[in-house]
Amino acid sequence: RKIKVGLIYGGKSGEHDVSLSTAMAVTKEIDFNKYEVIPFYITKQGEWRSGAALKAAVQSKEQLTFGGEGRAVQRSGSSNALLPLFGGLQPAEDTAVISSTSGAAAEPALDVVFPLLHGTFGEDGTVQGLLEIANVPYVGAGVLASAVGMDKVMMKKVFAQAGLPQVVFRHFTRTQWAKDRDEHVMEIEVSVGYPCFVKPANLGSSVGISKARNRDELLAAVDEAFQYDRKVIVEEGVDAREVEVAVLGNDEPEASVVGEIVSSNEFYDYKAKYLDGKSVMVIPAEISPEQSDAIREMAIRAYEAVDGSGLSRVDFFLTREDGKVLINEINTMPGFTPFSMYPLLWRETGKPYGQLLDDLIRLAIERHADKQ
Ligand code: ATP
Ligand code: MG
Ligand code: MG
Ligand code: MG
Repeated sequence: RKIKVGLIYGGKSGEHDVSLSTAMAVTKEIDFNKYEVIPFYITKQGEWRSGAALKAAVQSKEQLTFGGEGRAVQRSGSSNALLPLFGGLQPAEDTAVISSTSGAAAEPALDVVFPLLHGTFGEDGTVQGLLEIANVPYVGAGVLASAVGMDKVMMKKVFAQAGLPQVVFRHFTRTQWAKDRDEHVMEIEVSVGYPCFVKPANLGSSVGISKARNRDELLAAVDEAFQYDRKVIVEEGVDAREVEVAVLGNDEPEASVVGEIVSSNEFYDYKAKYLDGKSVMVIPAEISPEQSDAIREMAIRAYEAVDGSGLSRVDFFLTREDGKVLINEINTMPGFTPFSMYPLLWRETGKPYGQLLDDLIRLAIERHADKQ
């Protein structure tokens, strides 16, 4: 019997389109002899879509209708939006059911879910929590690792506790900033200095991030970051190369070779990431074997520090002046098209895309069994 894989993609976050192209790539590469793919598309408005039309589009790999077709399962805006995920309801005709813990489902439950969502409501532990409640195995990090990885302040506190070297940082909420702005500015100028990087605490794809070289730029950058989050982090800016490692596994994670990002812009902002197509990935990175070993070991330590499982991409700075390695962040749902850093790092390590999909699905099922 084929393994039934539920694919959740799209979503309300700013990274909707990134998720769409990932979902297209996964359905294109996944082995339909082994897996039956059942798509769940979430529109930008948060409407869940499923059903025969969407499934047919995915099955025939029709990329154009991939996002738009399919009947809405439930409207968003009420908690009902999620009800078809649980087996308690008698599902409407054609509605796939993710879990059938109550045994009342019309269709057999899914064997595993692949939440191909980036950013909020996807990468941050919320969908993972939903899938935990539904008692269905899912690909990628669990609730805790997802939530810690999404919040840059929490992530840095956990990294610090694990003894991982990183840049100096300060953080504050909108309320704290409004109340004690001058104190925060002074504190930043004394301990962080210029240039600094100002970021919304919970986001990805470089959205809302600016580099500030002086006080005026700092004030503008903080206002900008508060457009996206109620919590902002300010980090010491380093002049560094950027290197990344792909980690795969549950209790015994493995690290890929190291890759380098050479950004087309002053820093690796949204434009350099997705728009101008001029940034370059160098895999493997041109660094010494000793440096590579040290970075891969740190990647595993970071993964274990956040209690990672499934997959993560761990990103580092390699300072130009003295070759120091500093951890930047962990991404629990990294870009996952065949042209993204994560799969390319594994390809270079000897694991092609199709095999990576097999491994991720197996790891999801194993973790689920391990919890019972
Ligand atoms: P992703 O899309 O990888 O999830 P993100 O939105 O989480 O990215 P960061 O990785 O924190 O954002 O920052 C984006 C980019 O900004 C980095 O890749 C790097 O080019 C630059 N950058 C961020 N922080 C610093 C820093 N402290 N010093 C120097 N450059 C930085
Ligand atoms: Mg990130
Ligand atoms: Mg991200
Ligand atoms: Mg990043």
